[in-house]
Amino acid sequence: MGNPWFIKRDECPACASGNCKTIYQAEYDKPPIKDYLTAFYLPQGVVEFEYLEGATYMLVECSSCGMIFQKYIPNEFLMAKLYDQWIDSQKAFSSNRYGKGLGYYAGYAQEIMQLIAYFGENPSALSFLDFGMGWGNWALMAKAFGCDSVGLELSKERIENAKLNAIKVIAWDEITRHRFDFINTEQVFEHIPEPLQTLRYLKSSLKKDGMIKISVPSANDINRRLKIMDWQAQKGARNCLNAVAPLEHINCFRRTSLVVMANKAGMEEVIIPIKLQYRYSTDWSSAGKIVRNILRPIYRNILEKQNYLFFRNIQ
Ligand SMILES: [Zn+2]
Repeated sequence: MGNPWFIKRDECPACASGNCKTIYQAEYDKPPIKDYLTAFYLPQGVVEFEYLEGATYMLVECSSCGMIFQKYIPNEFLMAKLYDQWIDSQKAFSSNRYGKGLGYYAGYAQEIMQLIAYFGENPSALSFLDFGMGWGNWALMAKAFGCDSVGLELSKERIENAKLNAIKVIAWDEITRHRFDFINTEQVFEHIPEPLQTLRYLKSSLKKDGMIKISVPSANDINRRLKIMDWQAQKGARNCLNAVAPLEHINCFRRTSLVVMANKAGMEEVIIPIKLQYRYSTDWSSAGKIVRNILRPIYRNILEKQNYLFFRNIQ
């Protein structure tokens, strides 16, 4: 592939196996991928197809852990362009600032209360990092509960916003100077070029028994969707391919891939006790929400249906 803005990944980014097979490929600058990108990026900003000329969107499956990943991914320059320029930060800011309802904030409060209860300490004794904090909503909520709350982000506008909200911001190189009880990664690992290496690095900044959360799009239904390959399906629709979104969701983890990756990094899966999950569940305002609160831990921890996992530092 002659395009200089892409790099190739030959190994599974979760388990490092080289035993991978191609399951789909299409050109970036031709339909259906071109049409998908136009429909996806225009409402958020722009897409510059000159950077995609001659590049191939290629999905590969790891024969060892089942991970599905994009073999050719944007290099650092193109990633920065995509996240800083194609996606208009003013639009993104407005949709974050004005588009979130009570349920969104209640969800963060619930998760942070469950974590504080899990550690069994006063919030002031706990140090949390939100890795890829976006507009800082989670870090701000952790701070409101009294935790030492630190955030990391690449985007200049988002860092500025965090500082305006008095959230402590650290850079990538500073991570290992810290010892955190908990690192939050919410919808981050699907975007990262080298997730196993990143996880190892983050782990080195955890206290012993410290914990990291990895929450990424679900791959439950991906086999069926990959047979249909409907690039027109909207986000949330039955056939939607958002879990393998070109350029952005470069890693589509099966649950097993996450567990294997964490084990390789010296971590093991932990389940927050279900009684704590219930005790600190918020929003019991309607029959639907009551049912959802009751089913959530069963769905996540017993049926193992969501890619929402916690891993403990065991070394
Ligand atoms: Zn693998």
